Amino acid sequence: MAKLTILSDRCKGCGLCIEVCPKKVLGFDKNTLNAKGYRPATALQPEACIGCAFCARMCPDCVIAVER
Ligand code: SF4
Ligand code: SF4
Repeated sequence: MAKLTILSDRCKGCGLCIEVCPKKVLGFDKNTLNAKGYRPATALQPEACIGCAFCARMCPDCVIAVER
């Protein structure tokens, strides 16, 4: 399983990473507001991640890092 690191306080809630993930790993954290006042993206199903890093490449704010 790949390791996802999400710097939640830098997320602006655009949802691009959620859209691009082929395994539907990501979603918004409905229980959290970050420092910018957004609901940040989080890994809802981390066990499904295949480490493709599409999410990290798509994020305009470099919030996500993927280690394989
Ligand atoms: S690395 Fe790929 S499978 Fe894993 S969360 Fe990102 S887009 Fe989804
Ligand atoms: S693409 Fe980046 S800024 Fe947009 S929701 Fe995902 S982690 Fe947040």
